[in-house]
Amino acid sequence: MSNDAGKRNQEPLVVRTARELSAAIADRLARAASAGGTAALGLVPTMGALHSGHESLVATARAQNDVLVVSVFVNELQFNDAADFERYPRTLDADVRILARAGADIVFAPEPGEIYPDGRPLVKLDSGALGAKFEGASRPGHFDGMLAVVAKLLHLAMPPASCPVPVRYSAYFGQKDAQQLVLINRLVKDLNYPVEICSVPIIRTSEGLALSSRNQFLTPEQAEAALVIFRAMTMVKVRADRHEPLFLEDAVALFEEEPLVELDYFELVDPNTLQELAFNCQETPFAGEGLLLVAAKVGQVRLIDNTPLGY
Ligand code: AMP
Repeated sequence: MSNDAGKRNQEPLVVRTARELSAAIADRLARAASAGGTAALGLVPTMGALHSGHESLVATARAQNDVLVVSVFVNELQFNDAADFERYPRTLDADVRILARAGADIVFAPEPGEIYPDGRPLVKLDSGALGAKFEGASRPGHFDGMLAVVAKLLHLAMPPASCPVPVRYSAYFGQKDAQQLVLINRLVKDLNYPVEICSVPIIRTSEGLALSSRNQFLTPEQAEAALVIFRAMTMVKVRADRHEPLFLEDAVALFEEEPLVELDYFELVDPNTLQELAFNCQETPFAGEGLLLVAAKVGQVRLIDNTPLGY
């Protein structure tokens, strides 16, 4: 990576088509390559309506790459609810302003027809048993649709073979969407994508609510009630840190005191496979590593969160 990475303050180039994206990446990489050695290309896929969680991903990617591409695309295939897709916030102008400050080089903001020119793809990716659990159980088809777009974006932003120096290619995803991250790691492994997947920790409000583009649909009262998610996870984490029995049911009981919050799942799983851990229902002291996965509905808004235990 050349020395001037992370110091750009220019407006990003906004491109709408795959062809423009390839040309822009080739051009920027050629410039980075002129410094010699190797070049580093980073991709941050998003659905826009950017907040500090996205900005953290972009800042991490900016610091590690010569050329930084951020995609903004609301992927209909991963919405199982048409109303949720329609009301998903679309704020491209504001997003581009944020990305200019964050130092993105290229913003890829395609129209749906650019990504899916024949409508829904005939050939599909299957997220398997893992894609049917947790979020997949409540949102059938969500992860297959997510994999469809991520596979395309990873492919469309791939460094061109013509680049005069070797290119390190990385893509950045938030730990907030833990199940998505595990599936993307499997996508890359199972299909031999030449890209390194990098994960970035969850960004929260000062009170503990994980940032999400959907939080703007919460009333102040609902946002306050939603803090029970963080309280419940913290209760378990404190016990895990002390190597005590976790008694997850105590944390689950907190949700009963919040009528505005409807708990969907509260599960302790293996962080790499998302297999449920036996600790879940035992009274034995916690040891090892785990990931606590939570999903709850507050009004119309579905919130997901997670916290690692034993790290
Ligand atoms: P989205 O626009 O919701 O598809 O999210 C784009 C990327 O930002 C995904 O990799 C998310 O995991 C990540 N992300 C969303 N919210 C947060 C957050 N609060 N902290 C860190 N990363 C996040």
